Parts: sequence; structure tokens; C-alpha cells
Amino acid sequence: MDSPLLTPSTLPFGAPRFDEIRLEHYLPAFRAAIAAGRAEVDAIASDPAAPTFANTVEALEFAGADLDRVSGLFFNLLEAESDDAMQQVAEEVSPLLTEYEMYISLNGQLFARVKAVWDSRDTLDLAPDQRKLLEESYKGFTRSGALLSPGDKETYARMEEELSLLELRYGKNVLDATNAFTLQLTDEGDLEGLPQFIRDAAAQAAREKGLAGWLFDLTHPSYVPFLQFSARADLRERLWRAYNARALGGPQDNTAVCAQIADLRRRIAQLLGYPTWADYVLEERMARNIPTVRGLLERLLVPSLPAARREVAQLLTYAREHGYPEEQMQPWDFPYWSERYRAEHFALSDEQLKPYFRLEDCIEAVFGLATRLYGIRFAPRPDLPVYHPDVRVYDVQDGGGRHLALFYADFFPRPGKRGGAWMTNFRELSARGGVEERPLVSIVTNFSKPAPDAPSLLTHDELTTFLHEFGHALHGMLAEGRYPSLTGTNVARDFVELPSQLMENWAFEPEFLRPFARHWQTGDPIPDALVERLVAARNYHAAYFQVRQLRFGLLDLAWHTLQEQISCVTDLEAAALQDCTVLPDIPGTCISTAFGHIFSGGYSAGYYSYKWAEVLEADAFARFRDEGIFSPEVAASFRENILARGGSEDEAVLYRRFRGHDPDPDALLKKLEINPI
Ligand SMILES: [Zn+2]
Repeated sequence: MDSPLLTPSTLPFGAPRFDEIRLEHYLPAFRAAIAAGRAEVDAIASDPAAPTFANTVEALEFAGADLDRVSGLFFNLLEAESDDAMQQVAEEVSPLLTEYEMYISLNGQLFARVKAVWDSRDTLDLAPDQRKLLEESYKGFTRSGALLSPGDKETYARMEEELSLLELRYGKNVLDATNAFTLQLTDEGDLEGLPQFIRDAAAQAAREKGLAGWLFDLTHPSYVPFLQFSARADLRERLWRAYNARALGGPQDNTAVCAQIADLRRRIAQLLGYPTWADYVLEERMARNIPTVRGLLERLLVPSLPAARREVAQLLTYAREHGYPEEQMQPWDFPYWSERYRAEHFALSDEQLKPYFRLEDCIEAVFGLATRLYGIRFAPRPDLPVYHPDVRVYDVQDGGGRHLALFYADFFPRPGKRGGAWMTNFRELSARGGVEERPLVSIVTNFSKPAPDAPSLLTHDELTTFLHEFGHALHGMLAEGRYPSLTGTNVARDFVELPSQLMENWAFEPEFLRPFARHWQTGDPIPDALVERLVAARNYHAAYFQVRQLRFGLLDLAWHTLQEQISCVTDLEAAALQDCTVLPDIPGTCISTAFGHIFSGGYSAGYYSYKWAEVLEADAFARFRDEGIFSPEVAASFRENILARGGSEDEAVLYRRFRGHDPDPDALLKKLEINPI
């Protein structure tokens, strides 16, 4: 078939033919690619030759290359340049893809061959990445029940199905409970303290429902600013109590559902041979096991708890000086007083900073940082096709002129692009039979577009986001290796944010900011006082927010280290959190009944990874701080040991090679200016 999705591109570096791809190409290309993938899988499974690493594990890694290419283009454009017709293709394609994945994962003949290679692994003399590929391949089958007896396989499938239904029900209950509450205000006097933009949004919300006045609800854009700005403690309390009692009792009660989910997960893990769900999940993570995760959380908690209590005590003093009548800081009052104090002492508006961050200067500075650290260069390639005129494409080259990647940057919002910012690949690095295909890497953001009379200017948050996504992009562009599933950002989930969060640090370094952050009209450099405020504001209430995250992590761990059934949600929660309260406990509230991250959002036994990633980046950046934030030697070591290696070896080993020790939680405490105990 003559399709720009299926025929290899003849453009330089195999750049995709965005100029030729049309909507009607996708579905036939998916069908053809899936058929080709199945044929390849069949050939591996029914190979008359005895199973070897090359004819089974490696062959499976490279099977379905056409499908990877079509998916790599389609699903990225579905996020960045989509419309109803694209969505319709997605709906048609997704069951086909699920079916294809099941065809592989339930293929007994194929598993028997992978297992035969696995069983002989110690006699095979495999390179580290080959060993890792074999392990991942084997576990991909066994972690989904390939070793179970036929009867247990049925039980497993039934429990998986039940679990996914319960997770859906849990999520729906949270959503319905969130939507069930509104606060309608009709007296303008009740809006005291609220900025105009919040009043406008609330008036709009009321109008949409045909109501008078202003309407507030429990969704974040309404709830969070209300608690921060409303001067009315009674109304804040009403909203706070409603938010923190979502799905606790009432028609959307989740108390039984979360206990059932935890219990089902425990039984699934035990059927597969793991003591608890957390053991099952953590096996695939850099942290590896429960004691390491618990150790991290407790190591951070011990010094952070008294520091957080001090922050709250100081805020209480400030509040009382300004007329706060309570003896204790109440949870619905903390955000309000915290915001008042912040506005008084650290206020920095986007409007003050934006004139210094012209997008074109930021791009040059971020590329320049990569050149300084890694010696790589970015040459614009306006001759290569893009999927929208706003998209820019660069040829990324090593110091020696070697082509490393194509880098696509898509900065501005438009209809058909989802919100937020992300990094992705149109194509992963792979090398098959000595033929290397370098990656096609992309970052997508929603920065404000240039106006007729002003260039695109970034907020400081946006500059930080740019550096974050660019850090992921470096992980992709500087990848080396041969197996796509083990290169670039294909690493353990608690490791993947290291390169991105590491890059954010430069956004707060005066030495990085000063040379490029110049006022776009006057050319004046950014004032030192502004940079100092930025740095000072970064750690405002750091201990409080750290304890908050640690509490969520401990609660997640309590739920997912259960070895037997529990009966009372509130008892479990109280026991898990008893030693780490900072603000008073309020009866009639519950975290677990609306903790979507762990019960319906894919973070079960993984909430710790937010803190884990912060420890990794703080500890990694400490080496830059010690040896020079532009040190090419440190950068070379980071590149060689981390960025180039992807997931080709155990991430803990890779990290130790770069840092010389395991990730050190003290580095994060130091960064947050919390005194270690
Ligand atoms: Zn990220």
C-alpha cells in the first residue's frame, strides 16, 4: 500500500511526512501494521528452531515496528493536533490495539519460548541490556499470570475485571460527590477578599446554571482560590468540610469500595506469589521494596514534622496579630493566612517577571545550557515538514557533528491541542542488525502566543516547565543503545522524573538567568532583587507541604501493605497518620474515600515516587552545585551514566555510578532548608 505512514520516509533522518499524512491514512495503516505485527509474532512463536535469545526475545522486541511507527505518529497528534474525526479513529483503533496486546500476552506458545530462554539465562553470557530485556520480557508474562494453573488463570482474570470495575466505581463516586456540592452566594458582601477573576468565574458558573449571584464548587479552579482568598472563615469552613468529606457516607459512599479495592489487590498479589500489593508494584520500580520506601518517607518525616509545626506556629502568631481569634490554626484557615503572609513577604507577580522572559531568548538560553553542559548543538531545519506551522524542528548534533535526534518544539495553544505540557517521541531509538535509527523527540506546551505588538513572554513557571520538558527531551535525544523499550525515557516510573526535575534547578540559578533574562523593551537585565525573591519564595512553607505529601505516601503504603482483610477505613487511616499531624484532625472527614491517585489513578503503592524523584534530583543537583553548575565533567558523567543508558540496567546501579552513593534524602532536606536531625 502506498501510504506515507507505512512506506519508510526518504527525507533526511527518516523525518515523518507530516505534509503527506491525511486522516484517511490512519485506519488502513493501523490495520496493515497490526496484521504485520501478528504475522511477526506468529513466526516467532512457531519457529521450528529451538528458542534462543536472538530468535525469541530480541525478535519479539523488534516485532511490530510498523505499528510502533503508526502509533507514534497518530497518538501524539491526537494530543497535539486533533479534532472529532481523529477522536473517532482513536475509538475505532483502541479495541484493535487491546486485542493485539492480548494476542501477545496470552500466547502460550510464545511464553513457553520466552520461559525456555529465561530458564537458561545463566548459561547465555548476555550483555547487561540483553539480560534486562529478557527479564522484562519474562516478567511481562508472569506478572499477568502466565505461570498460573488454568483454574487460577480464570480466578486472576475475574479478579482483574472486578478490580477495574471497582476502580471505575470509586472514581465515579468521587466525581459525583465533588459535583454534588455547590455554594451559592447572592450577597456581594459574602465575596470579601476574593479577587475579581474568581468573582467573574463564579458569576459565570451561576449564569450557566440559571442561578443568581455567584456559584462556587469543589473543583480545583473554584475550591483552591476560595480557600486562599475568601476573608470569610465560616464560608471557608463550609467548603473545606464538604471537600474533605467527599464520598464519605451518603449516596456516593466509598468507605466500602476502598476497602474492597485494597483487598482485591492484596489477593491478586498473593495469587501471583507476592506477600502484598506493594511488593508486586515495587518490584518494577527503582526503590524495589517496602523497607526502602518506608525508610525514605520516615527519614524525611522526622526532621520535617517539627519544622512544619514551627511554620504553622509562626503563621498562627502572624494571623493572631492580624485579628485571627482561634487558639489553633484550623485547616480551612491555613491556606488563607498562608496566602496573606506570602503576598506580604514574597509577592512576585507574573506581570513583574514576564517582560524578562521572551520566549526566543528562553529557547536560546535553554539550548545554550545544553551546549555548555553536553556540547550538543541545535540547527533549525525549516525544510523538514511539520504538522502545524507553529511547530519548529531542529537537527540536534553532538560536538563532533554526529546526528543525535530531530527535536520538534510546539509551543503555542490552539484548538485541538490539549492543555498542559509534555515531552514525547514520534520514534524511539533502536538499532537492529547494526542499523541505527535515531529518535524523533518532541515537546509540546501551551505558552502564550506573540501578540501583534509584543513577543511571546513566559512566566517563570512556564520557563521552569520548558526546562522540565527539555530535561525529558535530553533523556530521549542523548539515548544510546539498541532496544527501544530500554532506551530514552523508558525507565522505572520512580526514575523517569530525574532528568526533567534536575533541569528545573537552573531556573533558579542567577548565573543562568542573568545573561539572557533582559527586559524585552528596555534591554535591562533582570534586577537582582527579583531573582532573590524568586529563590526565597521557592521554599515558602516547604516543610508543611513536604509533610502533606509524606502523609499521603504513608497512607498509600498502609493500604497496600495489608496482608489480610481490614474492616474499618477510618481506623486504618487514623493508625497510619497518628504520628504526623500538623493541623488539628477534624472528625467527619476522611482522605481515603476521595484519594483518586491511589484508588483509581494508577499511583497505588507509588505515591512515594513524588518524593523519591525530588530526592533523586536534589541529590544529583548537589553534585553540580559542588563541582559547578555548568561543569562539563559532571554533565558528561550524568550523560554517560543516566541519560545515555535509559532503562538498560537497574536504575539504582546507574544512579550509583553517577553519584557514587545511593540517593541521599539529606540533599532534599538541605535544598528545602529543613535542618536534618
Ligand atoms: Zn515530567
